[in-house]
Amino acid sequence: MSTHASRIAPPVGDSVIDRLVESNRAYAAGFVDPGMGARPVLRVAVVACMDARIDLHAALGLQLGDCHTVRNAGGVVTDDTIRSLTISQRALGTRSVVLIHHTGCGLQTLTEEFRHELEMEVGQRPAWAVEAFRDVDQDVRQSIRRVRTSPFLPHTDDVRGFVFDVTSGLLREIDAGA
Ligand SMILES: [Zn+2]
Repeated sequence: MSTHASRIAPPVGDSVIDRLVESNRAYAAGFVDPGMGARPVLRVAVVACMDARIDLHAALGLQLGDCHTVRNAGGVVTDDTIRSLTISQRALGTRSVVLIHHTGCGLQTLTEEFRHELEMEVGQRPAWAVEAFRDVDQDVRQSIRRVRTSPFLPHTDDVRGFVFDVTSGLLREIDAGA
């Protein structure tokens, strides 16, 4: 599909993690201590889906040290996302929150039935919701609301949500009030 996919063949035989560790040695060999503190320079936290097709730093023009990045399946605002955002704002000085969902998300192919199937298979129902959704715009609005109404976050005036198009690379902003 992409040039990236053809350039790097899928690992056969040896461990993919071994390959990552090897890449890290090369990375560290050229690494210069940037001398940064832990507080994000742009005072922004980005919450995004874990989808492999989204290169957040490239897509948003971000540099090392600029932002906090919180990623999970769907880029949904769960209790654990709120935990990270609370620490980001209260302990590390961020003020803005960017939420990024995307086209063709895997969560649009699931339903909460996924939990039931899990329970049938392993004999235990997970405590977490799948957070599956049909309408990506609506899910972005819900995520914005969850951030804006969290009692733990001191800064909720600059919260914006977007859908990233994985075929064009463009962000489309979602009107939270619609
Ligand atoms: Zn996704």
